Amino acid sequence: MAPADQTRKTQARKAMPDDTASRLLAWYDVHHRELPWRVSPREHARGVRPDPYRIWLSEVMLQQTTVEAVKSYFRAFVEKWPDVEALAAAPTEDVMKAWAGLGYYSRARNLKACADLVAARGGRFPDTEAGLRDLPGIGAYTSAAITAIAFDRPAAVVDGNVERVISRLFSITTPLSEAKTEIRALVEAMVPAARPGDFAQAMMDLGATICTPRRPRCMLCPLRESCSAVVSGDPENFPVRLPKADKPQRRGAAFVAMREDGAILLRKRPEKGLLGGMTEVPTTGWTARVDGATTQAAAPFPGDWRSAGTITHVFTHFALELEVFHAHIKGDAPAGHFWSHAHEISGEALPTVMKKAIEAAIPGATKKQRPH
Ligand code: SF4
Repeated sequence: MAPADQTRKTQARKAMPDDTASRLLAWYDVHHRELPWRVSPREHARGVRPDPYRIWLSEVMLQQTTVEAVKSYFRAFVEKWPDVEALAAAPTEDVMKAWAGLGYYSRARNLKACADLVAARGGRFPDTEAGLRDLPGIGAYTSAAITAIAFDRPAAVVDGNVERVISRLFSITTPLSEAKTEIRALVEAMVPAARPGDFAQAMMDLGATICTPRRPRCMLCPLRESCSAVVSGDPENFPVRLPKADKPQRRGAAFVAMREDGAILLRKRPEKGLLGGMTEVPTTGWTARVDGATTQAAAPFPGDWRSAGTITHVFTHFALELEVFHAHIKGDAPAGHFWSHAHEISGEALPTVMKKAIEAAIPGATKKQRPH
């Protein structure tokens, strides 16, 4: 550890009362969230141990996705593929379809690659941060979370919730983007030797339910006595953030072609790149300018193309505006395209942006429909 980190850890130990972790754990024992992948403190005390497969799966899903959105996907995955061997045996296509709608699709490809590797090595996940980080799709945060939660080993688990709690506890005035190392060192100093997994989950739960971004419920907080932001009178001032730069805007057109029987024309995106390997309706390129190459003039084949409105979608690095066109066409699918029957659409690996485009043209088309 760098000398500066060691200094921060020492400061943290001095600043925090000795019973900080035990107060947090006592709060967690009573107020923890019930989550489908979680072993509750009561079960934990009875000797139930978390399944590393379920913890890994949930943590990958939770990268950039909210707990509420993840729950139903998690349940569907473990019902279909109850262990890592089952997931490894599944066709990639099926995994991508089951992931559709969760976003950040490189996670699904890495999930499958990771399952393949772990299954090939006997089905056991490594139990150290270093071993886990060697696997596809597992970075610093996820490896720490799995180490702590699945294996109950000390690790500094720092997600957005924890960053907020620590920024407030210590009134960190450095902008969050530059305070990551400091926050991590402070968390490391707080991790207890006993129940490090529950401690990690307690910190997350505290941030999610008490130390919320707006209107933190400090009166109910088990760490109130040691919180420096509460003394300052306005915890919402933390974490300190630099002003956000506006996202660049890109534009394009999407073409929703429907056959007489309600089938919709789709194609698969290239494996590499944004939304790689996912399914889409034909679209133009997505660029900053609007010209003949990004409008109706660029329709991939002749048809009675009519405007069905505009949809917007925000990606990590840009905002997209797609003008949607709709047409009825007959005949075989053009090369590289395929017809998806109305009752199959909901099971296609369609990212959210494509579902929005299809829904703009044919409301209800991406919802589950019975075969005729
Ligand atoms: S006292 Fe308030 S600001 Fe401080 S950690 Fe608790 S909820 Fe957050």
